Amino acid sequence: MEIITTIQQLQEVRNTITTSVGFVPTMGALHDGHISLIKQAREQNEILIVSIFVNPTQFLKGEDLSTYPSKDEADKKICELAGVDYLFMPNINTMYSNDELGITAPIIRGFVLEGYNRPGHFDGVLQIVLKLFNLVRPTNAYFGKKDAQQLALIKQMVRNLYLQINIIECEIIRDTDGLALSSRNVYLNDEERKIALNISKSLREATKLILLGEYNIGKITKQMRSTLSQTDIEYIQIVSRNFTYIEECELQNTIILVATKVGTTRLIDNLWI
Ligand code: AMP
Repeated sequence: MEIITTIQQLQEVRNTITTSVGFVPTMGALHDGHISLIKQAREQNEILIVSIFVNPTQFLKGEDLSTYPSKDEADKKICELAGVDYLFMPNINTMYSNDELGITAPIIRGFVLEGYNRPGHFDGVLQIVLKLFNLVRPTNAYFGKKDAQQLALIKQMVRNLYLQINIIECEIIRDTDGLALSSRNVYLNDEERKIALNISKSLREATKLILLGEYNIGKITKQMRSTLSQTDIEYIQIVSRNFTYIEECELQNTIILVATKVGTTRLIDNLWI
């Protein structure tokens, strides 16, 4: 595996590649969720490029940019063992100058849910992903359904800007106790972790209700609110897989999304029905 830190190096390497390129962008502190994306990309492409970059433009003031977990040495080992060919680890000054052209998330999908609670977050996500796409020029790029809205917006960016990249959707990886893996889980103490299990529990209960024929969104979210009562709920939303409003749950076309704080740690999770 070769570690690349400059744009020039990355462009030089990219210009020598004529086969398929799989790309997995991450913010590091890699866990089994990231590794599942990397493994899938390894199987489906000749060349595999992973990036690790904690992107400042997607963090709002007061969020955890300065304390975001970083495990560079462990991450390098994980990537090496997973068969990554090139690991791109730029620093902030490599990726950004002080006066940058921006990108604005679309209104319908970009300003609800995460976009409403974290205004500007998706502008920053799309900006960095587009920069990385232009550098890596991947054949296939891998994103987790854990960040369902991010995935939908990246697919829209690819459509709207005519990018010739296949976006591959990857399943959510959970711990054995059901908690969706996240780099932020390390912030949780033992007590908080127990409380956080109610997030996946609430989603499982919602699924059970739906499978029993309860499609009423109000009734389902009421049950979820009660299960999540020990947490500080930001939103529980049930939308179509296109992130549009639905009157009631529709099988094969529903996503249930939760964002909630456990202590000071903000966690998100979702389930696709
Ligand atoms: P991050 O490092 O949080 O920016 O995540 C990098 C990629 O890994 C994104 O596409 C995430 O959706 C994906 N990812 C993060 N956690 C999980 C998980 N538990 N299961 C599947 N994919 C995940």
